[in-house]
Amino acid sequence: MSVLGRVGRGRAPVHAQMSIGGRWRDAASGARLDCIDPTTEELLGTVPAGGAADADLAVQAAQEAAGAWRALGWTKRAALLRDLAAAVAEVAEPLAVLDTLDSGNPIAGMRGDLESTVRELHYFAGLAGQTHGTSTPTAAGTVSSTQREPYGVVVRIVPFNHPFKFACGKAAAALASGNSVVVKPGEQTSLSAIALAEVAEAVLPPGVLTVVTGTGAELGQALVAHPGVQRVAFTGSVPTGRAIMAAAAQNLAHVTLELGGKNPLIVCPDIDVRKAAHDAVASMNIARSNGQSCGSTSRIYVHDSIRAEFTDALLERVGALSVGDPCDEANDVGPLAFAAHHARVLDHVDRAKGAGATLAAGGSRPAGLDRGYFVEPTVFTNVTDDMPIAREEVFGPVMAVLGFSDLDDAVRRANDTDYGLTANVYTRDLGVAHRLADRLQAGYVYVNGTGRRPPGSPFGGWKHSGLGKENAHEELLSYTREKTITITLPPEDPDWSGR
Ligand code: NAD
Repeated sequence: MSVLGRVGRGRAPVHAQMSIGGRWRDAASGARLDCIDPTTEELLGTVPAGGAADADLAVQAAQEAAGAWRALGWTKRAALLRDLAAAVAEVAEPLAVLDTLDSGNPIAGMRGDLESTVRELHYFAGLAGQTHGTSTPTAAGTVSSTQREPYGVVVRIVPFNHPFKFACGKAAAALASGNSVVVKPGEQTSLSAIALAEVAEAVLPPGVLTVVTGTGAELGQALVAHPGVQRVAFTGSVPTGRAIMAAAAQNLAHVTLELGGKNPLIVCPDIDVRKAAHDAVASMNIARSNGQSCGSTSRIYVHDSIRAEFTDALLERVGALSVGDPCDEANDVGPLAFAAHHARVLDHVDRAKGAGATLAAGGSRPAGLDRGYFVEPTVFTNVTDDMPIAREEVFGPVMAVLGFSDLDDAVRRANDTDYGLTANVYTRDLGVAHRLADRLQAGYVYVNGTGRRPPGSPFGGWKHSGLGKENAHEELLSYTREKTITITLPPEDPDWSGR
């Protein structure tokens, strides 16, 4: 039954099952989803296509496990999360290979994902006891305090782009604060989430971490709308975020959302142009997830005085990227995760050309790669703010270069979007850095180091890019609800024997 170590090219496709309450099952309907290797377009295996009946079983199992998990206390929960981190670290390499096969993300990126997942588990294990309440000053005879309690069951819906990292790392805070968690991975890349359930089975009590697989429309909706769920956390696209809020509204469940971005990068003229151009490619996360990253800096505003030099250096760097089998460490870029997304990204490229942008690099399937969902790293120049390529999230290896002459104007244009996930600045002038950071409308501003996030720094979008913060203490607290307890003391008993 084990997925881990059984999935591979040239091997028989695996028949994976879901883990619900410590039992391995197929979907109640028997329906299944194909897991396609985006590099070879071959079948790696199938996973259950769960639906409403499976959502019900999963929530019931999580409800049954929640009380004992909370009662265990935070020190024991923290110890078990550390055990889970150790168990994941032990099989990090096969997990990274599994994600590379299933998602097409380069192996180096998936190794990085495994490292950061283990860090995330340790980080939240360390924070597990930091859910203190408060005490309120009162008149004599009354005691008033607050305590933070877990919700019980947390539904955690994640997207396809960092399969294991999101399935596991994004459960850590909810588990640490005493909730049982039901994880639903992206339907295109579910295999490593099932491997997570296999690893967790040996560490956590049954039902504490449940992994169910299926489509968003069937399983995702059923989980979010389930009357037993009071807390939903979602990472994915803006339209799905809206659908999830609407469904969760039925139960007035608390929702946090980590959504898409069209992140600006403002390059000032006082920097090392070549280094900034190379960093701009790195911050597209091409070598980590083929540009399929919410944080990709896909709108680059470059000061006109250095635009030509910057563009040349950018094109040189992009031209040096090697595209091919993501399991081969020699390659920087793999295929996109699935066929429909491949078609969507190429459609963005066509529309950019149609709108009059200049295709300066890439734009099609690389020569010699006839199979697989590959797209060349792509750069558009002569882009204007109104073009779709400057406004819509592509979620692929596609960059748009725009110019600016006036910094105020650059900030105004960078902010002229419904998105607000990250904003990025390159400058050596700390005064400019502070002023821009203050004015940019985004939940996270990077100066001279896009993507380098210290552990514990809160991440989360503004505007249509999300609600709430993750990867920080705020996330832990968001999985608790506050209860106020006021006790009016009984009158003193003059005969009490203790006096
Ligand atoms: P998506 O919104 O299509 O799907 C995400 C998840 O939601 C999947 O598991 C899917 O099955 C599920 N889903 C879909 N419809 C649903 C519904 N009606 N009810 C419940 N669940 C439903 O996103 P995607 O294509 O998998 O991922 C790409 C998007 O995710 C991009 O917009 C990207 O920016 C965003 N993203 C954001 C962050 C962040 O931290 N802000 C991180 C990664 C990805």
